[in-house]
Amino acid sequence: MSASDNLQPFVFEHGGVRGAIVSLGATWRAVLERRHYPEPLRGVLGELMAAAALLASNLKFDGSLIMQMQGGGPVTLLVVDCTTELTMRAMAHWDGEPAGPLTRLLGNGRFVITLDPATGTQKYQSLVTLDGDSVAEVLGHYMSRSEQLDSRFWLAADGAQASGLLLQKMPHGGPDPDLWNRSVMLASTVTPRELLAAPGTALVRRLFHEEDVRVFNPRPVAFRCSCSRERVIAMLRMLGPAEISHVIEGHGEVEVNCEFCNRRYAFDRVDAEQLFAAEVVTPPDTTQH
Ligand SMILES: [Zn+2]
Repeated sequence: MSASDNLQPFVFEHGGVRGAIVSLGATWRAVLERRHYPEPLRGVLGELMAAAALLASNLKFDGSLIMQMQGGGPVTLLVVDCTTELTMRAMAHWDGEPAGPLTRLLGNGRFVITLDPATGTQKYQSLVTLDGDSVAEVLGHYMSRSEQLDSRFWLAADGAQASGLLLQKMPHGGPDPDLWNRSVMLASTVTPRELLAAPGTALVRRLFHEEDVRVFNPRPVAFRCSCSRERVIAMLRMLGPAEISHVIEGHGEVEVNCEFCNRRYAFDRVDAEQLFAAEVVTPPDTTQH
């Protein structure tokens, strides 16, 4: 069993179908260490992380893939953020003790995927209603509708591991017209326990042992939060000096906690003055009367 977190792409040699398998150990535990997620929500968040890594690994640009499930149930928000270098972070908002399947957790929810290239400002966002009882179902529906690409996910997560398997039918197909159905049928024999216990090459070999499958080199996956003091400063500047000094009068400082990694950023009165001191150099308003 491989010790590190990784993602392994593979392809069926006779074309038409590709896939990837991802195994998150330390990456997933880094999320769990930072907040205690109640059981059913924990499973959904872990599966969403595995799915995000699988999709991010396919992107053809440098940047991030952000998956959000926004709900009207006890769970109001799940966010997974995965860069194309496969560093990731995740968090959720909820009330009370959420229970039941995905539809109960999130109520009438929506699923939003944002592609955010590192260079340029053009973000691509697509939004669908949450359709399905599991993360794998929601994603399968999403992909066939928005990407017009037949995709199937098998996902699992427990308190130590999150894993996933993706199969995609390539648009140009291949010489073997039955390959897609056959590979989906073979993959469907996988149990969550197997996904969690024997991830990686061994599982791909076992599931598709009668097929000619080429497995590519594993790509490392790791937890990383992209928050920084600079980003927090940019956000505070947008709030404006009046709002900030109001908070400082009440609390003595402005404190911002990153919801993904729990890092704490604090600004006292002197820090806050410096935030806005820089504004002096911005050009004066020329629309004065
Ligand atoms: Zn952070």
